[in-house]
Amino acid sequence: MPGIAISASGSVAEALALLITEAQGPAQPGRKEGQAEAILEEGNDKVQELKRAIGGVYTFVSQYVELDAPGRGSCPFHPADRHPSFAVNREEGYWVCFHETNPRTGHYLGGDAIEFYRRLKGLSFKEAVRELAEEYGVTVLLF
Ligand SMILES: [Zn+2]
Repeated sequence: MPGIAISASGSVAEALALLITEAQGPAQPGRKEGQAEAILEEGNDKVQELKRAIGGVYTFVSQYVELDAPGRGSCPFHPADRHPSFAVNREEGYWVCFHETNPRTGHYLGGDAIEFYRRLKGLSFKEAVRELAEEYGVTVLLF
């Protein structure tokens, strides 16, 4: 596989970073599927670690949205309206906006802390993970 040679001086982290770039690129003939999957799995573990570092969604979202005790507030993704149209479910650990539904699933717009941050800042998932990882001191090798 061109470009994925692990040099003697290169660290494992660098090799992983290279591999993940390959894994997320267009399908290439000769790519080892199992290897890519293992590394994506590793990336997923890192995202889980970041989520643990971020902690409760209520506390996280409270930095950006004024929430009442039950977790309701004004939606930051839509123009202000008279009713609280945004809520955080503390127990389940997700936020939801009642303005929009996903046409594919029929569910309200919502997600975890990373998805909140991504949407609020207009970032890609990778960018959001990279910024939050830096803020919360989690080493994400894969991006
Ligand atoms: Zn909304």
